[in-house]
Amino acid sequence: MIHWAVPGLMVALACLCTGCRGSRGGAAGLPAAVEISDDQSIPLFARVLEAAYPDFVCGYADGALLFTDGERMPCDDGKEKDFRQRLDDTDIEDMFRDVYPLGVPEEPAFLSDPGRYRSEAFMMKMYGHLPEEMWRHLVRVDWFGQELLFTSVNGAADSLRAVAAELQALPRRYARYFKDSSSFFWREVRGARRRSAHGYGIAIDICTAYADYWRNNNPGAGETDAVAYRNRIPSRIVEVFEKHGFVSGTKWYHYDTMHFEFRPDLLLYARVYPGAAAPGGVSGNKH
Ligand SMILES: [Zn+2]
Repeated sequence: MIHWAVPGLMVALACLCTGCRGSRGGAAGLPAAVEISDDQSIPLFARVLEAAYPDFVCGYADGALLFTDGERMPCDDGKEKDFRQRLDDTDIEDMFRDVYPLGVPEEPAFLSDPGRYRSEAFMMKMYGHLPEEMWRHLVRVDWFGQELLFTSVNGAADSLRAVAAELQALPRRYARYFKDSSSFFWREVRGARRRSAHGYGIAIDICTAYADYWRNNNPGAGETDAVAYRNRIPSRIVEVFEKHGFVSGTKWYHYDTMHFEFRPDLLLYARVYPGAAAPGGVSGNKH
């Protein structure tokens, strides 16, 4: 099991062969240690993806990610996009536009949404294109007396179990934040035509009673309007999720504070991106 929230300890900046290495992994289907290639000729995001998802990504060449099954997937679709277009039509490179802010942040920077960008081609490649493909990978995770479905791909379910075990050790006053949770459901993002992370089996909404969602708190606001921020989820909970590879919707400008999503690539990227491993992070990354 990788403990993602120990900056500098688990991230070994070692030279790593970027050729295909086949499937390997630790107890949770994740590598025993996270190593990132120091080959500067390869974009950092590509090296991070290879380190975070070694069962799928095995290299990079000529602007494309290389997969263990031989597929090549272009990282940049070459399109000029505005904010909304980038959300609806995300390529691999776009996923890393905003660097996830580690630590306890101030309010999210304007339009900084690290994690809302998901390349559907990339996500479907790993987690399944169709509901029946998804179902094959779903397993039950005991979550404070609830049974939640989560994907076993990339060690996501085991990581959620590790989150639950650690949250259960918190003082009793935290228990109210884990009631009425939900995970897998096949749907599109509210107000959009793209698939929700819940449709990949990598996201959990931890409660509704203490949730804040940007659309609900700012009726009528569009994606590029200024919105008022509100969050009632304690930072201690966010820290535990981040430790096990989950990003938090509390750190998005378009916040969805009950939402946590298994995105170890974004946490790894934040730890190694120059100057980003500080509260507030970096927005508008140009790689
Ligand atoms: Zn959610």
